[in-house]
Amino acid sequence: PPPAEKYEYQAEVSRLMDLIVNSLYSNKEVFLRELISNASDALDKLRYLSVTQPELLRDTVDLDIRIQTDKDNGTVTIIDSGIGMTRQELIDCLGTIAQSGTAKFLKAVKESKDSGADSNLIGQFGVGFYSAFLVSDRVVVSTKSPKSDKQYVWEGEANASSYTIREETDPEKHIPRGTCLTLYLKNDDKGFAHPERIQKLVKNYSQFVSFPIYTWHEKGFTKEVEVDDDPAEAKKDDQDEKTEKKKRTKTVVERYWDWELINETQPIWLRNPKEVTTEEYNEFYKKTFNEFLDPLASSHFTTEGEVEFRSILYVPAVAPMGKDEILNPKTKNIRLYVKRVFISDDFDGELFPRYLSFIKGVVDSNDLPLNVSREILQESRIVRIMRKRLVRKAFDMILGISLSENREDYEKFWENYGKYLKLGCIEDPENHKRLAPLLRFFSSQSEDEMISLDEYVENMKPEQKDIYFIAADSVNSAKNTPFLERLIEKDLEVLYFIDPIDEVAIQRLQSYKEKNFVDISREDLDLGDKNEEKEKVMKQEFGQTCDWIKKRLGNKVASVQISNRLSSSPCVLVSGKFGWSANMERLMKAQSV
Ligand code: ADP
Ligand code: MG
Repeated sequence: PPPAEKYEYQAEVSRLMDLIVNSLYSNKEVFLRELISNASDALDKLRYLSVTQPELLRDTVDLDIRIQTDKDNGTVTIIDSGIGMTRQELIDCLGTIAQSGTAKFLKAVKESKDSGADSNLIGQFGVGFYSAFLVSDRVVVSTKSPKSDKQYVWEGEANASSYTIREETDPEKHIPRGTCLTLYLKNDDKGFAHPERIQKLVKNYSQFVSFPIYTWHEKGFTKEVEVDDDPAEAKKDDQDEKTEKKKRTKTVVERYWDWELINETQPIWLRNPKEVTTEEYNEFYKKTFNEFLDPLASSHFTTEGEVEFRSILYVPAVAPMGKDEILNPKTKNIRLYVKRVFISDDFDGELFPRYLSFIKGVVDSNDLPLNVSREILQESRIVRIMRKRLVRKAFDMILGISLSENREDYEKFWENYGKYLKLGCIEDPENHKRLAPLLRFFSSQSEDEMISLDEYVENMKPEQKDIYFIAADSVNSAKNTPFLERLIEKDLEVLYFIDPIDEVAIQRLQSYKEKNFVDISREDLDLGDKNEEKEKVMKQEFGQTCDWIKKRLGNKVASVQISNRLSSSPCVLVSGKFGWSANMERLMKAQSV
């Protein structure tokens, strides 16, 4: 057959742009968020690069974003003092649809193995810029990169398939660094050229952008001005010395335009916890971690002394899905800042043990170097101290939920994170005394509501020394085991371990408030009611029966014995003193498959 020929796809670029923009954005208001995000990314890139190239900041302009509206001409202008673009970057970034300079930057940062200012950057798809055409007929971008000594102007129109780039020659329009983007609004969208409208949008969408955002506002203040007296009045005043001294004034309103800061530049964690509302914490959480649900709890604190840092921690409303999540957490749950500059959220147990990997939050330290790498984090003494404090605070926060008047709060927590805490019992003996009070189990006296070990201990009989438990695969089968009979008869409470991990976790704890955990299915269970006389009689009477049963069962059982532990069932299979419990055997079997 003749060779196949290869063709490049042809596209009507202007239509494609229209399609992209209109299908991606159902709400045209978002244009401002996209453009502010780009400005913020540009500032972040500059800030990040200036850590190693301080000369980039030689033009001492503040790192900020300014938005100016002109309602007479129907324009909105967004100015940032960020990294700007060279001519080539204008072609690559704004002239190529779906090309993201930010994604490239991120890739370069990653390739340089430098865990850097990465995921603060918002852009990645390379289409955000075109959202400007949702509301504009024409967009003009004037930009100056510190890499170039020239300033360039990119100009494009809605529904056009070409754009222009020229050098900025008008010295009046020169900027020291950054980008100045002007939108010429469509007729129907001229309403955006009002400072109030812009201010509302910024508050809604870009509240936590980490650079100051200013809008150009008309302001007024009242002023007392002296009034020229008419001669007649003056003469009258002459006669009365008192009034002469009192100058005649009137109140006027002076109007002027000025920049007004509208977002919260001071990160929420730097504020005084007493002045931050729960709503603000929740809002920050949802915004920062892309969450829809409010967290179950939050904790905002500062630590002083050896290591100083500030942090806000959260317990998310729901645990991550997936079975492996708990054992191999690859979260981006903790965002580390150094002096308010975002450093990394790529941690692997450095700041929290894996059983607390579900905790989300921000940590801001002044004591770490800006260019901390993974290796530094792992070895740093400062990080070890931070970790200890963070873990303690996380426990306090969880304890707080458990002390809530609303029992449901902790039930919800336990449902989501009970497994994590049990894993903690196994992996973190150092924190046993913090973990144990947080555990919850069903029990023979509370099958609908889980109880804490404290509640169990409170409910113990005066002569009771141990905490009794039975492992089973469900509350129902626990309830029906013959082992329970005697204990129920004696009104002793028994904990139900229905999660396979329960027994292992409890074994690690060994005891709680000096009370041992005792498996009621064990051979040597002693309820303190031995009657040796009676046992002797029984042994004599049934000794032969036991021998006969043992013979019939052979080595399927270790021994057959008379027992006093049953009240209505004729016999029961128990675990030997040193062997595995039946539940453990089930567990081992399940694992060896
Ligand atoms: P994204 O933000 O997803 O990368 P955009 O379409 O929003 O895509 O922007 C395309 C690219 O244009 C950005 O990645 C960035 O390199 C460049 N850019 C956009 N706005 C600015 C700006 N204000 N300053 C510097 N570069 C910018
Ligand atoms: Mg963008």
